[in-house]
Amino acid sequence: MPMNRVQFQPGLSLPAFLAQFGTEAQCQSALEQARWPEGFRCPECGHAHAYILQGGTHKIFQCQGCRKQTSLIAGTLFHSTHLELTVWFLAIYLISQAKTGLSALALKRQLGVSYPTAWLIQHKLMQAMSERDNAYTLAGDVQVDDVYLGGELTGGKAGRGSENKVPFVAAVSLTPEGHPQYAKMTPVAGFTRKAIAEWTASNLSPGCLVTSDGLACFNGVTDAGCLHNAIVVGARKPKDLPEFNWINTILGNLKTSFGGAYHAFDFDKYASRYLGTFAYRFNRRFHLDTIHNRLLVAAATIGARPQRWLRAAEAAC
Ligand SMILES: [Zn+2]
Repeated sequence: MPMNRVQFQPGLSLPAFLAQFGTEAQCQSALEQARWPEGFRCPECGHAHAYILQGGTHKIFQCQGCRKQTSLIAGTLFHSTHLELTVWFLAIYLISQAKTGLSALALKRQLGVSYPTAWLIQHKLMQAMSERDNAYTLAGDVQVDDVYLGGELTGGKAGRGSENKVPFVAAVSLTPEGHPQYAKMTPVAGFTRKAIAEWTASNLSPGCLVTSDGLACFNGVTDAGCLHNAIVVGARKPKDLPEFNWINTILGNLKTSFGGAYHAFDFDKYASRYLGTFAYRFNRRFHLDTIHNRLLVAAATIGARPQRWLRAAEAAC
């Protein structure tokens, strides 16, 4: 992986960020632009003209067509927040720039908010990142591996069949030159052919060439229109095989990231959110200077994600 290209890119400095998003007015106008890049659209009737009502904390738009009032934050990730947008924007900056993720505790300290508030901000933003990333599928040559998350991230084989761990599929697509392109980290019901076929249908484009270590369940990729290249591992460990070079490198990064940034206690309940956040950041690793804007657009457009929903979401999956 051309890591130097990642590590030495300029990104966005804190002073530069604060110059752009340091005041409530700046954040409001950035949110308005992210939410309605072509100007206001009434969520109720689609009308393009509104009267602006000031007075409350956030700008209110009264539709000139149906007269419905829409607050700037209604229906966004910031729906009904009592926090200033400057706090949210700083959280977006800190979370998107943190190479290895950011815990709720670190966020609490840096934002000067309570732990429950920091937890909510963290999980809302992680949810936005995961949902954004889920919208894409991998294409071309893809390396996959079966991994368990929880307790200790083992990289797969030693933990196979373990209890109380979350099974997930790690996948990375390669460029024609063999460089890693995009990654996916997805919890699955188990390592069965059926689960892998379902995973393939929602995460890979048809016609991918999928390279695995030959675990039987990965034949499921052919049930969803992909080709399967099973490398027989035999006595060697997959980490020693060049075919799995990139997936192993990325899983090493994942282990470092989770070990350094988070406590493991809620991985089992919120696995897809943590894994999706890691993939989101990895997939935008060459865009550190614009990643905060991308996350803002995601937050402005995915819709409200209330606490009750966030706490229940994983169980419903
Ligand atoms: Zn309207």
